[in-house]
This record gives sequence, C-alpha cells and structure tokens, in this order.
Amino acid sequence: MSNSKENFKAPVEKNETYQGEIIDLTHEGLGVAKIEHYPLFIEGALVGETIEFKVIKIGKSFGIGKLTKIINQSPDRVEITDKAYAQTGTMPLQHLSYKAQLKFKKNQIETVLEKIGKLPNAKVENVIGMENPFGYRNKAQIPVRKNKEKLETGVFRKKSHDLIPMEDFKIQDPEIDKAVVAVRDIMRKYSIKPYNEKENTGNLRHILVRRGYHTGEMMIVLVTRTPKLFPLSKIVPDILEALPEVVSIIQNVNPKKTNVILGQEVIVLHGEDKYRDKLLGHTFEISHRSFFQVNTVQAEILYSKVLEFAELTGEETVIDAYSGIGTITLALAEKAKKVYGIELIEPAVEDAQRNAELNGIENVTYQVGAAEEVMLEWSKQGRKADLLVVDPPRKGLDEQFIDAVLEMQPEKMVYVSCNPSTLARDLALLVAGGYSVEKVQPVDMFPQTSHVESVTLLTK
Ligand code: SAH
Repeated sequence: MSNSKENFKAPVEKNETYQGEIIDLTHEGLGVAKIEHYPLFIEGALVGETIEFKVIKIGKSFGIGKLTKIINQSPDRVEITDKAYAQTGTMPLQHLSYKAQLKFKKNQIETVLEKIGKLPNAKVENVIGMENPFGYRNKAQIPVRKNKEKLETGVFRKKSHDLIPMEDFKIQDPEIDKAVVAVRDIMRKYSIKPYNEKENTGNLRHILVRRGYHTGEMMIVLVTRTPKLFPLSKIVPDILEALPEVVSIIQNVNPKKTNVILGQEVIVLHGEDKYRDKLLGHTFEISHRSFFQVNTVQAEILYSKVLEFAELTGEETVIDAYSGIGTITLALAEKAKKVYGIELIEPAVEDAQRNAELNGIENVTYQVGAAEEVMLEWSKQGRKADLLVVDPPRKGLDEQFIDAVLEMQPEKMVYVSCNPSTLARDLALLVAGGYSVEKVQPVDMFPQTSHVESVTLLTK
C-alpha cells in the first residue's frame, strides 16, 4: 500500500510568502485561495480580494496561510474597531459588512442543500437580520484568570487559554458587560484568588451572567473550584448593591481540571436558581443550567416563523421534539389542540412543566427521553400527529428518529436547525421518504459569527 502522505508534495512551502485571489469563504468564514489547485485557508481575507499571505501550515488536503497584505480590497470589507477581538475569535465575521454576512449565510445554506442534500431547487429565503447586529447576547460566560498580578476577566486567545482582558464584548447586552466589570471589581476588593488552570489551584474560574431581555432580571453565577468563597456576607450584599437588577446569585462548584465550565455542586447564595424572561408574551423561568436562545429578539422572530409555517387552526395534534424548557411548545399550544413535548434532560422538563403552569397553559404534556426512542415507541403504538416540530442540537436528527417520522407520517414538519450541514443531510432522507421541502427561512441569531440558524417547512 502506498503512503499518500509520504508521496504528497504541496505546491507551496512553509514560511514562504505567496500572492493569491480569495475565491470562497469556508463555513467558518476563512478566505480560500488556491495555488495549483491546492486550497489554503486564510483568516481575515474576503472573497474577491487579492492578498499576500505567508504559509504557516501544510496539510495533506489543505494549508493554512496568514494574511500579510491586502493588495486589492473587497467593497464588503469594514474597518474592525479593535485588534483584540481578532485575537479572540468571538467575532469571526467582524471584518465583513453586515449585509454581506447575511448573503454569506444564505449562500451557505444554498450550497449545502445542493451539495449534501441534493436539493438544488430548494427555496431559500433571504436571511432575516438585525437592525443593530451588536449587543444581542443575553448570556455571558467569562473566564477569570490572573493577568499581570491582577484578577482579570476577558476572553481566551484563539486556540489557547491565555486570557485577553476585555470589558466591552461588543456582542453582549451592554448591561451584562457592566455586570461582569462590577463583579470583577468586587472579587478584587476581597482578594478572591483567580483560578490557575495549569496547577488546578486558585478559586474563581468563571463569571456567568444571564439577563432577561424583556424583564431586566439578572442572574450571576460564580463558578469556583472549591465550595469556599470568603467573605460571602460581604460579597453578596456588594453585588446586590452594585447591580440592582440581580434576582439570583448562584455558586457553582467545579473542582475538576476540565474545559467544561459548570460542575455538579450548586449553592444558592441569593434568591432561587432562576430568573425570568419572556418570549412572544409567555414568561419563562430559567435556571442556571437551562438552554435558552441567546438572542431574544431574533428568537421571537424564529419562533414566529415556526408558527407561520405551522398554520394551526386549533384542531391539531402537535409533537415538539427537543423541546427544552418549552419555549416553542407554549407558542404552539396557543394555536393547537394538544402539544406533546419531548426532551432528554429531566430538569429542563421540570422547568417546562412549571413554565406551562406559570402561563396557564393546560394542553401540553412533556415526555422525558431521547427523541429517537420516544418517537419510535409512539410510531409503533400507531400514534399520529398533524404537525411535528424539531429543534435538535448541532448533530441533527438521529436516523432512528427519521425512520420513526416516516413510519408515523405527520402531515407537516417544521425543522429548526442551528447547523446547515446536518439539516441538509436530514432533509435528503426525509425527501427520499416522500416529504418535500417547501421553503427554508434563515434567521440571523448570531451576527458577527459564522453560525447559521434556519426554519424549514416540509409537507407530505
Ligand atoms: N426548542 C428549545 C430547545 C432547543 S435546544 C428552545 O428553542 O429553547 C435542543 C434541546 O434538545 C436541548 O434542550 C437538549 O437538552 C435537547 N436534546 C438533545 N439531545 C436530545 C435527544 N436525543 N432527545 C431529546 N432531546 C434532546
């Protein structure tokens, strides 16, 4: 057997500088240049630009280049405000105008639907963007480390855990930014030890802040290595005084040497483990571990599209799979006869049940379990649905789930997706099973980043 790696010779050399034209952007937003058919990915370069780059890595099927000079600039390029952000990767599309970001996202869906989904004629609507594509995140998870002998909060440098201090995060709710600084200063005042990752010593690992867009209610989570946090009798009142919106302060203890932010032990320092926000007029209680869309304004648009595509009359039986704390479920329940939610995580289902009660909604029932298992069981029992809504995590639908759908044959399906590639893969299977894709509506939930969210309507 020949070893292709040994025989492979790239047409470029490491550390040499080349000139090239950017012909495409990867789904992560990296510019693509080709030299004798060999693709090179170059961060910060845009389609149509002629650039100079230095080759920093050579792989078998592609190389990595570092942008050294823009010779011919794209009209879609916008000035970046602060170099620090480029080092962190929190806004990988910040150098692309917002209008062009929306085009890029639509194009990405069209490309995967054609290439992976074999659906070249699927109708993809223009991406619904934001009027102000900054300050939208209702949640922040900020690492705490020692930097120049001080406790610092900020963002890790890309592909590393070096902390770059930062106060204005640009894409977070500015009230959350202020809260992070206020909590940081209180931690400094009481000489709380920042976490040291290498040695697994020190104490404060992360500061999490969540804020209800419609309610202003704020939750602060202090993630510590040990249960000790001294002097609590001063820290808690100081936070409440500095941040009057705070309704809940939680200490989450994570003793492990791990990249996972949250640990198992939870100590409630103030209020309860919940804060509230609203979506389409319904109130939701959210605990510190619960999934809640990070962009409230766009989430409401997204869920409105689900309702619009559903065209409910009040007579329908609906299944909402991957229902989380019941955000989409409650929106559907108002317009349908009965909605069944399916969700894997038990505490999320408990939240969902409480949220239904809180809003006086009685025509919903939740089932704890893996959607693929529950759907298989229900289809075997001969249960039917007029509408099936799915909102799976990035890995998309399980094949067993799709088999169960094809067995149950709901009249209509609405697929909410945060990953175009798995969406395209799943749509191909559903189309092969007799469904047709009516339309795809992308909604920009994550401006300045390369994430693409969409709602797809399928009918039988
Ligand atoms: N529809 C909700 C939640 C979407 S996030 C909302 O918009 O807020 C996806 C949800 O799917 C998460 O709550 C996650 O816990 C759940 N989940 C992940 N894998 C699952 C599976 N195999 N079966 C059921 N639920 C699952």
